Amino acid sequence: MEKYGPRLIEEFGSLVIPLLLDFKNENDQLLVFCFHGLFDTKKQKDLNYIDPQKNMTVRQFVDFIEYFLKNKYKFIKPEDLLGDLKNDQQYAMITFDDGYFNNMLAINILNDYKIPAVFFISTKNVNENKSFWWDIIYKFRIKQGSSIEAIRNEQRSLKSFKYAYIDNYIAQNFGIEAFKPWSDIDRPFSESEIKNLSKSPYISFGNHTHNHSILTNYDKEEIKEELRESNKILFDLTGTLPISIAFPNGNYNKLVVEVTEEAGFRYAFTTDSQKILLPLKQENLICLNRFMTNTSKIKKFGSFCRFGYNPELFYNDLKEKIKAGRLNGK
Ligand SMILES: [Zn+2]
Repeated sequence: MEKYGPRLIEEFGSLVIPLLLDFKNENDQLLVFCFHGLFDTKKQKDLNYIDPQKNMTVRQFVDFIEYFLKNKYKFIKPEDLLGDLKNDQQYAMITFDDGYFNNMLAINILNDYKIPAVFFISTKNVNENKSFWWDIIYKFRIKQGSSIEAIRNEQRSLKSFKYAYIDNYIAQNFGIEAFKPWSDIDRPFSESEIKNLSKSPYISFGNHTHNHSILTNYDKEEIKEELRESNKILFDLTGTLPISIAFPNGNYNKLVVEVTEEAGFRYAFTTDSQKILLPLKQENLICLNRFMTNTSKIKKFGSFCRFGYNPELFYNDLKEKIKAGRLNGK
């Protein structure tokens, strides 16, 4: 039940909550969604070239966009937050993390619908055409016949280390060749692709550190260096200094926020599943919540969170209430 409870709640919510939302607008609120990779077809996904956990198909992405357009949300990018936003309007923002080349699939769709998005780039991967370490573990372990659970444990265990340790771990376990992408599905953007894309009015680029570093594992100087190096590369490619950053793995603490603010960023995106109330406070650095989109029901995703809940929290609360009710009844 522990596993299925939240899923059932999400299923139920995906039926009921859109109906409730019809009677309750989200004016003067901003919903930010975090995407990673896209697959053209399910067949591509089944190749197991990248970890499918946070990825979705193009069809699901289109459904997502159409749902929010149909419900009269205006899509914006971080730069739009610097100006005055119209009152009595519902806002949504699309963000993509890491810098997968497969995001081109999304960019074609964004161009069709004329809506903007921000892409947070892990610059070392782009710079060296280097595969993302979690995908390397996934694709090699799947080939070796490991269970998903074992893969998740291995990936999780590496998240408390710095990038040098992780790089060394990959090289030791899979060989130095493992860093080479296998195809367009798992490779990062190239520098020239980013350069070209930066000319589009719909595309904004943001910092995602140089080494996809989980910044809470680093000291002040190291954090500074991760942000500086990534900014330098993005500036060289796009001619613009990023105003936004997405913290890798969503991890941040007081020091990370301080250093990010000192580095001149205006918006720092987290993975805290909450809506954002507008207008924003006037602060130098504003942390913005995001909903993760690792669900098959993308169209309705965020429904629970849009009422200040996520399916896990809702399920746990419900369980507590039932337990308390039972105790009171006795
Ligand atoms: Zn990331």
